[in-house]
Amino acid sequence: MAGEQKFNVLSPFVIDFDIHSGLSDSKESSRRYLSDMKNMYFDDEAYHQLVKEGDPLVYEFYELDIPRTPGDIAFGTTVIYPGKVGREYFMTKGHFHEILDTAEIYYCLSGRGYLLMENTEGDWTACELAPGKAVYVPAGYAHRSINTGSEPFVMFFAFRADAGHDYGTIEEKGFRKLVVEEDGKVAVIDNPKWKN
Ligand code: MN
Repeated sequence: MAGEQKFNVLSPFVIDFDIHSGLSDSKESSRRYLSDMKNMYFDDEAYHQLVKEGDPLVYEFYELDIPRTPGDIAFGTTVIYPGKVGREYFMTKGHFHEILDTAEIYYCLSGRGYLLMENTEGDWTACELAPGKAVYVPAGYAHRSINTGSEPFVMFFAFRADAGHDYGTIEEKGFRKLVVEEDGKVAVIDNPKWKN
């Protein structure tokens, strides 16, 4: 057809993600070690100590080669390992989408944890997830996954493939809230490092 936009159209394909571990036998994951997350945890002393003691793997996820078009859907799994930096649970860096008005869904396969979300107006929410629960991250919300359990926290995700990732805003400002252990329980507290 004249004027029709040409996209790099994929053929149908199948990919494996283990329903418990979330890992794929056929793809390489992207890995984030604690040393990749400088200044993102509030307890700097505990952070540097843990990096020195062996720099643990905090999370891994899959970035498949899905074309970055508005009609494609990027998807994969993310696995956040159990652990804490001081009182703060292991978590992902978190990000806004570059195309801010694009949503995302996460579906929990195993483990337990939270999805922490906040938008540019300052609205925030922390949704607890366990196997079988899905969360809708609305357009405009930065999102971070946090493992509050004792086993890997595994989720499947999907979002518009051209949305892009803005990690810089969170790296610079942080989230307004932190998820920490307090008296043996999960607590959401104000982030003392947050910059308006
Ligand atoms: Mn996202």
